[in-house]
Amino acid sequence: MSAPAVPHAQVTIDLPAIRDNTARLVAAAGPAATMAVVKADAYGHGLVPAARAARAGGAQWLGTAVLGEAVALRRAGLGGRMLAWLAAPGEDYDTALTDDIDVAAYSPWQLDEIAAAGRRTGITARVHLKADTGLGRGGIMPSDWQAGVEHALELESDGALRVVGVWTHFAYADAPGHPTIVAQLDTFAGAVAIAEKAGAELEVRHAANSAATLTLPDAHFDMVRPGLAVYGLSPIPDVSSAADLGLRPAMRLSARVALVKDAPADH
Ligand SMILES: *Cc1c(COP(=O)(O)O)cnc(C)c1O
Repeated sequence: MSAPAVPHAQVTIDLPAIRDNTARLVAAAGPAATMAVVKADAYGHGLVPAARAARAGGAQWLGTAVLGEAVALRRAGLGGRMLAWLAAPGEDYDTALTDDIDVAAYSPWQLDEIAAAGRRTGITARVHLKADTGLGRGGIMPSDWQAGVEHALELESDGALRVVGVWTHFAYADAPGHPTIVAQLDTFAGAVAIAEKAGAELEVRHAANSAATLTLPDAHFDMVRPGLAVYGLSPIPDVSSAADLGLRPAMRLSARVALVKDAPADH
């Protein structure tokens, strides 16, 4: 069977829009670095082309949830810093390390698995320790944070890993003024202070998704992690449109109209 000359429906991706949106976010981030989040096939826009466009727009980092996507970016020839943050027991950390991909840790067992890969490969793992400051998803709970930091730094002294980042994720950054935002910032500041006091030499503290990148400079720290806005959508549509924010939607879904007809009421 041959494909129809004109497809019934198609998605068109505007890669220059991804580049320009990224440049807009890089400017908004100010001195903080920008990690373009390209997880989930770049939100359906195509992992590799979208990542290249984000790099062209000035993104210093690329972020994925699953490791496989970061590895795919390396295989496609993308350089620079990358972080993959979603891991399950038995994750292939050896490949992460040989491909120079930063990894995240949420628990002592995960730190142990990462350190084991560091010993096996002879490559010091670059770890971003995640603090659960209220979202309740991945991340070390405040009550376990001190112990988690100490565990990580013990492994660091063996040379198996290095804690390069402390980070967290917001629950309601898309509702500017929501009381959880300042509460999470406060808990995050405490987590960073504990890590630094314990001796962690952090390169990057990061918390901001698209909404916080655009509305909350206090949350920029050393790096921001926008996803949605990279693709030109407003993370706060009730407050500001994409155009208001200087963003351009990168995806266009079009289809041929199959049939138009009149139908009586109650048909
Ligand atoms: C998806 C995700 C982001 C990006 O969030 P947006 O709301 O799309 O900007 C940032 N950080 C983490 C950890 C994520 O999972």
